[in-house]
Amino acid sequence: MNATVIKNGRIIDPANQRDAVGDLAIANGRIVADPPADATVIDARGRIVAPGLIDIHVHLREPGGADKETIASGTRCAAAGGFTTVVCMPNTAPAADTPGTIAYIRQRAVEAAAVNVFTTGAITRDLAGEEMAPIGSLQRAGVVAITDDGHCVQNNDLMRRAVRYARMFELPVMDHCQDYDLVRDGVMHEGYWSLVLGLEGWPAIGEDVIVARNILLAETIDWFIHCQHISSARSVELIRRARARGIKISGEACPHHFTLTDEALQGYDTNFKMNPPLRSEEDRQAVRAGVADGTLSIIASDHAPHCPHEKEVEFDHAPFGILGLETELALSWDLVVQKELSASALIEKFTTNPAALLRLDKGTLSVGADADVTIIDPAHEWTYDVSQSASKSRNTPFNGRKLVGKAVTTIVGGNVVWSE
Ligand SMILES: [Zn+2]
Repeated sequence: MNATVIKNGRIIDPANQRDAVGDLAIANGRIVADPPADATVIDARGRIVAPGLIDIHVHLREPGGADKETIASGTRCAAAGGFTTVVCMPNTAPAADTPGTIAYIRQRAVEAAAVNVFTTGAITRDLAGEEMAPIGSLQRAGVVAITDDGHCVQNNDLMRRAVRYARMFELPVMDHCQDYDLVRDGVMHEGYWSLVLGLEGWPAIGEDVIVARNILLAETIDWFIHCQHISSARSVELIRRARARGIKISGEACPHHFTLTDEALQGYDTNFKMNPPLRSEEDRQAVRAGVADGTLSIIASDHAPHCPHEKEVEFDHAPFGILGLETELALSWDLVVQKELSASALIEKFTTNPAALLRLDKGTLSVGADADVTIIDPAHEWTYDVSQSASKSRNTPFNGRKLVGKAVTTIVGGNVVWSE
């Protein structure tokens, strides 16, 4: 029998309103009530024992981008970061807009993934925003949501029809909120620093307009729309008010948006270029406040690997996106260190909340659940060294950053897949 008992950890399991020191037993890949006599013991004294963390927004780049990342390397990053489940985006090559491509990704995950992988399907064919993808077939192929992430459906009628279809097939819709007319060729937040640096601005209203559109669609169709990587203060406020009215809208925060501002772009370092961009201090504070009060109920990395040769070009020409899986937990743990959020409330954003949105049978330590567990050392001080990253890429703004809090053991289906 393959059995483990994790002893004397602070077990935080928001699904069961549990936050207490105790032992957690695992046998044959599941959480059990009592440890078998021959169980391997893991000492978790002084550590937090949480349900395996979930990241619902990662780019694993397979198929078509294996020079940037693969399902194998991306999920090793996830394991190192404490994540036992990731949800990958459909902007691959080809795009994940047919059952065949979904089947390919799922098969590659079975063969090569270090952690659980769930897939999303496209809203529109080739993410081009022109004709709807076969949403029913994608659902039958096993996607957990639809999104055109990296792109945004501009045609409101098409989006309305897609959300109606998604409702019919009970698939939540996730949206990368970007109005193309307002954003045009913007490469950084439109504000003081874009003026000083002479770079084209990506105004916050380019996000806000689509968030407002999505709130109206979620309300009229009465279906779940999740706004990905929210970066602007006004978007946070729009989502806050809509949720108070009971609308099925949700929002996601990425650690870089609540950690850094556009001031960081002074060196024209393309490792600070992502979409949506780093914004003003007011926006950064608003995203933190939105995370703290539950408006932004999910934290995700938007892990977006790019090769050095792609990033080492003029700022305007570099692709958007940064690595995220390995720094995500520590950057988020800062909210707990700064007393903006309790440990349990933070863990909800990585477990119960994303599991509920995407109806994943994950994110809990209930007896009988899959034994996906993350053991966190909340006091661990460390420095991120991207040269040691499990990723195939190196594009991070956090290289050399001192961090507090780290996953020390990652367990998937009862097996330790990573340990410090
Ligand atoms: Zn995106």
